[in-house]
Amino acid sequence: MSADTAALSTNTSLDLGSARALSCRECGHEIPLAPEFACPECFGPLEVAYDFGDVTRERIEAGPKSIWRYAPLLPVPADVARHPNTEPGLTRLVRAERLGAELGIKRLWVKDDTGNPTHSFKDRVVAVALAAARELGFRVLACPSTGNLANAVAAAAARAGWRSVVLIPKSLERAKIQMTAVYDGTLIAVDGNYDDVNRLATELAAEEEDWAFVNVNVRPYYAEGSKTLGFEVAEQLGWRLPGQIVVPVASGSQLTKVDKAFGELGKLGLVEPTPYRMFGAQATGCSPVSTAYAQGQDVVRPVRPDTIARSLAIGNPADGPYVLDSVRRTGGAVTDVSDSEVVDAIRLLARTEGIFAETAGGVTVACTRKLVESGQLDPDADTVLLITGDGLKTLDAVADHARPTAVVSASTAAVREALAG
Ligand SMILES: *Cc1c(COP(=O)(O)O)cnc(C)c1O
Ligand SMILES: [Zn+2]
Repeated sequence: MSADTAALSTNTSLDLGSARALSCRECGHEIPLAPEFACPECFGPLEVAYDFGDVTRERIEAGPKSIWRYAPLLPVPADVARHPNTEPGLTRLVRAERLGAELGIKRLWVKDDTGNPTHSFKDRVVAVALAAARELGFRVLACPSTGNLANAVAAAAARAGWRSVVLIPKSLERAKIQMTAVYDGTLIAVDGNYDDVNRLATELAAEEEDWAFVNVNVRPYYAEGSKTLGFEVAEQLGWRLPGQIVVPVASGSQLTKVDKAFGELGKLGLVEPTPYRMFGAQATGCSPVSTAYAQGQDVVRPVRPDTIARSLAIGNPADGPYVLDSVRRTGGAVTDVSDSEVVDAIRLLARTEGIFAETAGGVTVACTRKLVESGQLDPDADTVLLITGDGLKTLDAVADHARPTAVVSASTAAVREALAG
């Protein structure tokens, strides 16, 4: 650690709100808040532990119209909204009656996270990582990414006036490369897949001590940002928990943190602690967690990804075992669907609800259909689907299907002919 960072991270004036310590998910050992991600005792993953004060619905409702309304429940200073950041969140929760009718679910909602500043849920985790990293003394934001994280890191760093260093597999979708490069940070395309890029980032994080790798050395703070999806769903349902929720799984962080959010809301008395079931969605071409679930195993065997759902293509998911814990504890499941089912589901969501999702959204909708058909999802329970990214990012997925109905000359006769045909 550099002298600068070390000085700040041991500084007693460190203000990360109600965050108290980092605690090991395996052995419970606690260390002071710092840019660390692995337990010094057992190398288990660290997560943020809190001493929550008195948090009320009224105070949250009176807060900013962004994730910062939940600042008292995040590892960020109370005045976080005063610093330049991307202000994601408070995206629409849409009652999806037409999609529900198609899927056979009576009360269905879609959480439409395409509406975030860089069009995916990653703006949530990055905004929290940036806010925590600022307190921890960093001024460079970095990440390995499958695309959406790259967009969010480059944009948030630009807004904050920080440098960004983003590592991606060079085979990424063109839109995701351009949507990162335009913010003018440092973008490195690596000849390898995401797991290669992630390993490279972990090595670099050990050497570049002044870089906050959002999903490596500041991962415990970053991960807390996913809780805001759970908080918003509950608030937007009128301060209650859904009966079941379907969440796409890449590293698995999002699913475990939505579960954590529902648990915290119940403990704090912000909602009735009613039972809910967590469901995970993967693409068959990268389904290590779904496979472990189906085989009744606790360990997740790494795979080599091959799917159009690149934003979920993490072959060695860090939080895989915790996803298994979460779905088994709540009575949910994990499943997976083929790439052609993903494309059909993107089109189904667009046709029924007017929402154009990227491939990860197709994975969520297609897995929902499969889980209803197999009887694992209850058609009578209040159900929420997380649609986490925008279809503009993965236009190629629907290129064969999303075409003009007809191409005609500029005459009414020609249009009539096309309408009749
Ligand atoms: C990263 C990502 C996810 C899942 O993230 P994890 O927390 O790593 O499981 C889901 N959807 C989209 C669009 C993403 O970019
Ligand atoms: Zn430990």
